Order: sequence, then structure tokens, then C-alpha cells
Amino acid sequence: MIDFGFTLSKSSAVNLTNIDDSKFNALLEVEPDAARCMTCGSCAGSCSAGVFAPMSLRRVIAALQRGADKEALSMLSHCMLCGKCTLVCPRGLNTRHIILSIMKIYNTAD
Ligand code: SF4
Ligand code: SF4
Repeated sequence: MIDFGFTLSKSSAVNLTNIDDSKFNALLEVEPDAARCMTCGSCAGSCSAGVFAPMSLRRVIAALQRGADKEALSMLSHCMLCGKCTLVCPRGLNTRHIILSIMKIYNTAD
């Protein structure tokens, strides 16, 4: 085999058919608007916590959709529930309420 001096990175593709989406579906039952997130990032851009810590609601929702619960909860631990993201969401999501529902479902449904 020819040595080109580099190796290909491992694929970061996520096989969505292999993830456990039961908790995300439970979230959608109480917060159906969470499915309307278009990952625009307005929430992340206005986030009070994001200035100081790795916190982005856009990334939290994306992580939950691909079953990366620990990653999402780690980010959410920095949320101050200030509600600024709710004010800027172009889809009109009640993000603060969604965050509280995520904390409740993902922290208690084990
Ligand atoms: S601002 Fe709203 S639509 Fe945009 S990424 Fe955040 S939650 Fe999703
Ligand atoms: S409620 Fe949480 S996620 Fe939303 S802007 Fe405030 S700190 Fe950021």
C-alpha cells in the first residue's frame, strides 16, 4: 500500500436507523414544536451562557436527534434559563419551556 503521509479520518456519518430515539419521541409528545427547529442558530448567537461555556441550543437539539444524549445534557448544564433564545427564535419555539422538558425527560426517564 502506498504511504501518502496522511490517513483518512474516520467517517462521522450517523446511522439514524441504529439510534434509540425513544426519549426524543417522548420529548416531541410534550413539545411537538421541537420538531420545527430549522437549526438556524439564532438561539446560539444570543445565548447568555454560550459566551462563557460550550452551550448551543441548536447543537443540543441536533445532538438529541442523533441520540447523543450525554453531549446534549453536558451542554444544557450551562443553561441559565434566561429565555433570550425564546425571544429570537424565528420559528417561535418556546425554547425555554423545551429546555425544561428536556431536563425533565432526559434526567428522569432512565
Ligand atoms: S433559534 Fe429556534 S429554529 Fe433556530 S436553531 Fe434555535 S431553536 Fe432552532
Ligand atoms: S435560556 Fe439557556 S439556552 Fe436560552 S439563551 Fe438563556 S442560557 Fe442560552
